[in-house]
Amino acid sequence: MAEKWSLGRALRGMFVKETIDENTWDDLEAALITADFGPDITERIVEDLRDKVDRYGTTDPKDLKRMLVESLEERFERFDTTLKLTERPAVVLVVGINGVGKTTTIGKFAHFLGRYGRSIVVGAADTFRAAAVEQLATWAERGGAAIVRPEREGQDPASVAFQTIEYAQRTGTEIVLVDTAGRLHTKAGLMDELTKVRRVIEKQAPISEVLLVLDATTGQNGVLQAEAFLEHAGVTGLVISKLDGSAKGGFVLAVQERTGIPVKLLGEGEGIGDLTGFAPHAFAAQLVG
Ligand code: GDP
Ligand code: GDP
Ligand code: MG
Repeated sequence: MAEKWSLGRALRGMFVKETIDENTWDDLEAALITADFGPDITERIVEDLRDKVDRYGTTDPKDLKRMLVESLEERFERFDTTLKLTERPAVVLVVGINGVGKTTTIGKFAHFLGRYGRSIVVGAADTFRAAAVEQLATWAERGGAAIVRPEREGQDPASVAFQTIEYAQRTGTEIVLVDTAGRLHTKAGLMDELTKVRRVIEKQAPISEVLLVLDATTGQNGVLQAEAFLEHAGVTGLVISKLDGSAKGGFVLAVQERTGIPVKLLGEGEGIGDLTGFAPHAFAAQLVG
C-alpha cells in the first residue's frame, strides 16, 4: 500500500507522544479529514474513541492506535465485500464515468480471476470509439481472456453484451466481463442506455455483479457520481481505482458508508497485477500504518 495514502505519516507524531492530551484529538481529527474520511465519519470516529479512552481510563497513545484500527475495521466489516460469481456464466457489468479506469480494471480483473483457473470473456460494449475496442483487446490479451467485439463501429452496446453472453453460453466460458462507455452521471439519455443493456442481458442470464468504478483521487465528487449510478445501473459493488496516486484511503470508507454499497476491489496501479480484493482487516491495519 502506498505510504502516501495511509494515515501513518499524519498520525506518527501522535503515537510517539507519552500521553493522550487535547492536541491528540485535534491531530486525529485533522489526520482523518486530510485522509478524505469526510466530516461526518471523522466526527463519529473521534467521538467513539474519546468514549473508549474515557471508559478504559487509558492515557497511552498506543492504546488509542489499537482502538482506531478496531474502530475502522468494525466500520469496514459492516459490508459484505465478497464478489458473488457463482452463476455460470457469471455476468459482470462494469460502469462509471469516463477515465475512471473501467477498461483497465477489466484487464486486471481477468488476470486476477485467471489465477483462480477461471475462463473469461470480455465484451466490448463501449462501441463509440474504435480505439476503445482496441484498448480492451490489448487488456484481454494480457489478462488471458477471450473478447467479443462489435461487428461495426457504433453498434448498439446492448447487442454486443448480448453476443458476449451468447459466446459464453456456447463455449462454456465461466465469467463474462462487459465493458461499457463512460458516461456522465448527469446525462439521463446515456443512463437510460445502461438500463437497456441490463434489461437485454437479463433476458439471457442473471447479472451477478454490476461494478461501479470510482477514481479515488476525485474525493467527495465520487460520492455524487455513485449516487446517480445507483439509481440507474443497479450497482452491487464498488471498485476504487487509482489508490496508488495522490488518493486518500479514507475515501474508501466514506463512499461505502454514504452509498451503502460494498467496496469489492481496489486498483493500485496500471500493471496487470495491480488489483486486489478488499479485505477489511488488512485494509484497516495498513491504513493506520
Ligand atoms: P475508462 O475510461 O474508465 O475505461 O478508463 P481507462 O481504463 O481507460 O483508464 C483511464 C486512465 O487511468 C488510463 O491511463 C489508465 O492507465 C489509468 N488507470 C486506471 N486504473 C488505474 C490505477 O489503479 N492507477 C493508476 N495510477 N492509473 C490507473
Ligand atoms: P459530450 O459530453 O456531449 O461532449 O459528449 P460525450 O463524449 O459524452 O459523447 C459524445 C456523444 O456521443 C454524445 O452526444 C452521446 O450521444 C454519444 N455517446 C457517448 N457515449 C455514449 C454511449 O455510451 N451511448 C450512447 N448512446 N451514446 C453515447
Ligand atoms: Mg474504457
